[in-house]
Amino acid sequence: MTVIVVGSINMDIVLTVDHFPEPGETISATGLNYFPGGKGANQAVAIARLGHKAMLIGRVGSDAYGPVLLDGLQKDNVITTHTLPLEESSSGVALITVDRTGENSIVVYAGANARLQPADVAACFNQLERDASVFLTQLEVPLDTVLRSITLAKERGLKTVFNPAPSRALEEVRLILGKTDVLVLNETETQTLTGIALESDQDAFDAADWLLGLGPEAIVITLGAAGSILVDKEQHVHLPAPDVEAVDTTAAGDAFIGGLCVSLLEGRSRAEAVRFANCAGAIAVTRHGAQPSLPTYEDVMQASLASHESLAMARRA
Ligand code: ADP
Repeated sequence: MTVIVVGSINMDIVLTVDHFPEPGETISATGLNYFPGGKGANQAVAIARLGHKAMLIGRVGSDAYGPVLLDGLQKDNVITTHTLPLEESSSGVALITVDRTGENSIVVYAGANARLQPADVAACFNQLERDASVFLTQLEVPLDTVLRSITLAKERGLKTVFNPAPSRALEEVRLILGKTDVLVLNETETQTLTGIALESDQDAFDAADWLLGLGPEAIVITLGAAGSILVDKEQHVHLPAPDVEAVDTTAAGDAFIGGLCVSLLEGRSRAEAVRFANCAGAIAVTRHGAQPSLPTYEDVMQASLASHESLAMARRA
């Protein structure tokens, strides 16, 4: 079975510097790295790494990065028949500067991502894989494209998963929430949509209850090292993440969402799906980078067994 992902594809250009330049100042960088990124691409790769079929509907540019980004996705077994280069456009680029303290500043140019049109997605939906069963999208492509694609997905009976990242105001995404089955969001995105700052589990449950009223069947709020909460009609639960030593939290959310979609494809219960996703997110923070940190199915199963054992030991102690 296939997960259909509609989303962004970027080249992340990372410059390491001693300090950030003042306006008008020129400084020398001490390092330069290129990493494939973009939430759509990261989440599609997360699913493919976990051994399932992911088809990415998106756009790269006609510049030099376009073929590099496509090639990287294909090496990770993401289906790219609907990831097409757009003429006379640059690819999405994130220019990331990291200073010696690890602080970063980021400038994103959406490039071809901004030109993924509702009609492009509609054309792809006419030729979708027959075994498509889960649909996943985020907010790094135009809002009308997100709304059209999630509407088409719902009409075809796919389970729809929406990650409202980066944060947008409620009014901009209300219609999309109405077509969402499972909403997955972090603390910042929750606060933007609900106005509730999450200081306790009860705050998170309250925010999730409020979001349930906008249409989704289930709300999953990720809480970093604290794991995540799951709220639906039957349950309000906090599921902790395994205790790990974090070295780089980039793409934790993308790994989590990949884990969640894969578990939903496999027909696990929502709570089991969130446990599996917590393990995928926790592994990602123990590794550097975005796509390089995304785990395989075996990695997650091992982490999941280890965390069950440590929980059982903690209970016996
Ligand atoms: P985002 O990257 O979108 O801000 P979070 O920081 O909430 O998302 O992380 C997503 C998931 O990754 C968490 O719900 C958790 O399962 C896992 N995770 C993140 N940080 C840690 C950590 N320090 N230790 C263990 N798991 C983590």
